Amino acid sequence: MNPQEELSIRMAHQSAIRSMQRVVAEQAPAHDPIQAAAAVQGLLEAGRVLVLTGAGVSTDSGIPDYRGPNGSLQRHRPMTYQEFKYRPEARHRYWARGFVGWRHMDSAQPNNIHRTLARWEDDGKISGIITQNVDGLHQQAGSRHVISVHGDLGIVRCLDCHASEERTALDARLEAANIGYLQQVDLDPTAVNPDGDVELPQYLVDKFVMVPCLNCGSYALKPDVVYFGENVPSERKRQIDLLEERSDSLLVLGSSLAVMSGYKILLNFVKRGLPVALITNGHVRGEQKATWRWREPLETALARLS
Ligand SMILES: [Zn+2]
Repeated sequence: MNPQEELSIRMAHQSAIRSMQRVVAEQAPAHDPIQAAAAVQGLLEAGRVLVLTGAGVSTDSGIPDYRGPNGSLQRHRPMTYQEFKYRPEARHRYWARGFVGWRHMDSAQPNNIHRTLARWEDDGKISGIITQNVDGLHQQAGSRHVISVHGDLGIVRCLDCHASEERTALDARLEAANIGYLQQVDLDPTAVNPDGDVELPQYLVDKFVMVPCLNCGSYALKPDVVYFGENVPSERKRQIDLLEERSDSLLVLGSSLAVMSGYKILLNFVKRGLPVALITNGHVRGEQKATWRWREPLETALARLS
């Protein structure tokens, strides 16, 4: 690896760590839940609500919030795009762990929050969903207009020829190459993060057999997810802009907006003078700019709405 590649790996890590440690500097008091519920109900009745969802929406489906206090980002270093590209051994470790963790992710089911949002779309209340989650659960619940801003763990892409493959198809190839492997792993579900990633001892990482890209034979495969050190593709940004233009208010569910791509959407609505409502358990970046701050467990809050 050349010094420039070393430097780009180090810089991506520093930026990942800064993002993880970002504290919500400006905080504002929550509104009364009954008043907030009436206000959000009003927005839904008016229609064209854009819903922005984060990890808090999927925790009830058994997918841990990796930024939360017990999240995996607190336990191990996040994988970066630069490591996928330049460090074959880090990539191999990722796929060994991902092979084990994927079973857990793949079996996750949509919960009441996902189902409520799918119903709101059918009822014409919302213009669409932008999700920071990569679990595909909104689509599974029946939501049709979903933009996964950080991509989808269900798709794998080759870094050399850019060919893509369904994760389930890759998984079938990995299973054939690793017969008996999973039986040797004692999986702790709390060690699984949203990447479908799990802690594995080194001897099991070494034993794992990776399979190559079907198109070009490269082993440089990466989930089609935006990693630290990587940008949201410009075509997806354009789709987000279009959806924002077709929306009259913003409802943020279960996200602290620590990541810029989410925070920017809040800022855009504030700039346009449109209402912004937040329903979260904790604090949200930029919350002092929001019209409504509703702090309650999501499922309880959504049960107050129709
Ligand atoms: Zn390829």
